[in-house]
Amino acid sequence: SLWHLLKVLIVGDGNVGKSSFVHRYVSGQFNKTYKMTVGVDFSVKLLHWSDKEKVRLQLWDIAGQERFISMTRIYYKGALGCVVMFDVTSSSSFSSCRHWKEDLDNKAMLPNGHSIPCILVANKCDLAHRAVSADTIDRFSKAHGFITWMETSVKDNKNVGEAMSAASKDSCRF
Ligand code: GDP
Repeated sequence: SLWHLLKVLIVGDGNVGKSSFVHRYVSGQFNKTYKMTVGVDFSVKLLHWSDKEKVRLQLWDIAGQERFISMTRIYYKGALGCVVMFDVTSSSSFSSCRHWKEDLDNKAMLPNGHSIPCILVANKCDLAHRAVSADTIDRFSKAHGFITWMETSVKDNKNVGEAMSAASKDSCRF
């Protein structure tokens, strides 16, 4: 059978939950003392989509960034999908999503020249003190060309798999 390689990026400010998200998706665990690494890291998950199609999913997480920095083209190269994540209790992490999306639109291209499909993820929705309303997120998501947006809680394991499916679903026109 065939193995496909699917590279998906997870971007967003530091502390929004990117490492926890990848860790939860790959290993099914939430670890509060999960150690932050510095630099770019990737994890792998093997998916059996059908008898004939198997996918080696590479999740690239820019770990250890405190705020938005522009990434190099090398990081974006070959990516077929992206999750742009913010913390729903942090309005500054939400503001940064505009920069992350612009950087992606400028540098991350599919082989056909189109920008890669991105989904917007509002993480930590288990917390009560929200800083951004659903209405605001919805308007922003539509205005900036995200395929969709979703609320997640890595802590409560809510929508983690769903968000990853949405981010990789449209990416598989091999
Ligand atoms: P990163 O810097 O974006 O990779 O963020 P981390 O994965 O290191 O997470 C930052 C902090 O937020 C850690 O203390 C996590 O335990 C916590 N965290 C991550 N996801 C959630 C969530 O869904 N809910 C809550 N309450 N905390 C979370």
